[in-house]
Amino acid sequence: MPTILLAEDEAAIAETVLYALRAEGFAAEHVLLGGQVLPRLARGGVDLVILDVGLPDASGFEVCRRLREHHALPVIFLTARSDEIDRVLGLELGADDYMAKPFSPRELVARVRARLRRHEGGQARQRGRFEIDSEAHRIRYAGHWLELTRYEHALLGELLRRPGAILGRAQLLDRVWADALESGERTVDTHVKTLRAKLRALDPARDPIRTHRGLGYSIEVD
Ligand code: CA
Repeated sequence: MPTILLAEDEAAIAETVLYALRAEGFAAEHVLLGGQVLPRLARGGVDLVILDVGLPDASGFEVCRRLREHHALPVIFLTARSDEIDRVLGLELGADDYMAKPFSPRELVARVRARLRRHEGGQARQRGRFEIDSEAHRIRYAGHWLELTRYEHALLGELLRRPGAILGRAQLLDRVWADALESGERTVDTHVKTLRAKLRALDPARDPIRTHRGLGYSIEVD
């Protein structure tokens, strides 16, 4: 039974949503404040978050941004104003979907179901702060889908297969550039460099790719 966390300060809306979720067999939990979302997620067991954009202590956007630093679970926004919708549609916040108020609780539950199915059955695998969607051929990091070239994608995918394991340049060349006409060990370094820059652009505080002198590279996912 999937557990849904709802952050909503309007009692009437919260009640309707919780009722609709429970009627469809979900476990539903409710918090009133944005500040309660992360502590609840840290305890584990939540599969999806429904986030009201207009919360009393923090905007749902801010909560989502902080949440995305640690979690890749699906997020659905509840919005009340059209300018909020514009921001959600920008999709820079890492939200998966949104519903504009007033909305049909049945429709929301259908969206919840669809997002969960896509998240779990859609072959999205989580590796710490990375989420790999092998079906869509994309990787999410710190809440954002990365824009990668073909070889950057393959390189990152290879490193993420076994976080922490050191892969030598020759090994990476063999697995990632097997079909490349021309490549040398410098090719690996060049791509690691551009990949690092893209990851750093999303989170300047971290550098998940480790260089092991004389040995190769590994990735840290937490
Ligand atoms: Ca509200």
